[in-house]
Amino acid sequence: MTKSQKQLVNRRGFMGLAGLSVSSMALPSILKENITLKQAPSGKDTTDNYRTLREGNVFFDGNKVVVTAYKSMRFFKKEFSHHFAKMRIYRMECPDFKYGTDYGEYFPAQDYKKADLIFHGKMEPLLDCKFHFEDTTAKIGSTYSYWIGTDEGEPEGPLAVKVRDPEVWYKYEQVQEKVALLQKKYPAMVNASQIGLTTYKRPLMGLKVGHGKKCIAVVGAVHAGEAGPEIILYMLEKLLENHQDLLKKVSIVAIPSANPDMRDRLVRGNPWYLRRNPNLVDINRNFPANWDTVETTYGYSTDDPQGNTYRGLFSNSENETMAISSFMKKHKPKLLLSYHCLASIAGETLAASKDALQNQAFVDRSDNYARMFWEAQDYRDPKQEKVIYMCTAGSIPTWGYKELDMPAYDVEAPFDAADLAKCKLDQTDRELLRKYQEKHLKGMIALLKGVNAEKK
Ligand SMILES: [Zn+2]
Repeated sequence: MTKSQKQLVNRRGFMGLAGLSVSSMALPSILKENITLKQAPSGKDTTDNYRTLREGNVFFDGNKVVVTAYKSMRFFKKEFSHHFAKMRIYRMECPDFKYGTDYGEYFPAQDYKKADLIFHGKMEPLLDCKFHFEDTTAKIGSTYSYWIGTDEGEPEGPLAVKVRDPEVWYKYEQVQEKVALLQKKYPAMVNASQIGLTTYKRPLMGLKVGHGKKCIAVVGAVHAGEAGPEIILYMLEKLLENHQDLLKKVSIVAIPSANPDMRDRLVRGNPWYLRRNPNLVDINRNFPANWDTVETTYGYSTDDPQGNTYRGLFSNSENETMAISSFMKKHKPKLLLSYHCLASIAGETLAASKDALQNQAFVDRSDNYARMFWEAQDYRDPKQEKVIYMCTAGSIPTWGYKELDMPAYDVEAPFDAADLAKCKLDQTDRELLRKYQEKHLKGMIALLKGVNAEKK
């Protein structure tokens, strides 16, 4: 496979257009017949060395995997239509693919000859050009490689996709719908608005819930492959159902999904961990707080545009950063929780700015909120229940400290080792998600009470 093909494979898995045409339905069982590949025709109009298909793509649309490809331009003419008389779809499950460890390099070495042929037959292309196959038999939680081909030559692929539970990974439309429903159900309590634009110019949603002048801020999924919308929306829904008295005294200002462009790529099946926004900037290194200081966590340098922690060309350069910072400056929250860790859950670990260690009064305030949060949890461990002052230059916690004098935490790993192991591998299921939705709800109730009890 050439370098450019590898790059294409790396970028695919999420970029397809949904709902164009349905020309073939998935076969329920794997076809066992053996296909003998015909050689490409030779002679004057030789087509050797050319693939019959191009731009192969795969994505998960919420209930099925969709595999598409276009005819190669060289084979566009009617005289070549016999090449497309029968199409093939291969599928290979990838049980040893490891989220957080494996990236795009896992897939190109795979061989379709070892995969299952799940379809072999006629497909009507849309506009006589685009083939579209739907696999309704893919299992939630599984990672697959697909190939799409004609009977001649090598098929397009491997096209990699992870099938994720839409109830564990909300797509951004779902987030927007849930917020709109809350606003409709509780018009006097919920004020949702567009607070800016994403990199792809989609509306970035922020909401204020409650009437209290004092407020607590929550920010979800600044890092695409991490936690947020599922925890925040559950929390707001339950607080509105059962604790309006509290919300009338202390409000919550929320940005449920801060990096939805990239998070939607995961929802649509990108198998490996994604972190940055579409400009390849780490939003949590882009804030105007010691931004000039180069940091080197996780083996990346923040001034390396290829690195996973790239801080951007200048501070506040990203739409998402600007929207978050102006929303927070407007509301001046007492504290902020930004959900991280992995794959839709964040645990009890709280990390704050390392710069804050210079300021004992601030540390006391920050530790105090953390104590309230942990005391509300069923699980207690004084050894683990310590704020880790480690957040770097350009991060939200460092910006919160320097700009707003506001304790701000990256909410990180669960204390429970088994839960952590599960979410690290992107194996969070509905049950595990619910456990952490409840934990964060409890923690938030304690914090709302704590802030309410403060004199100012
Ligand atoms: Zn993170």
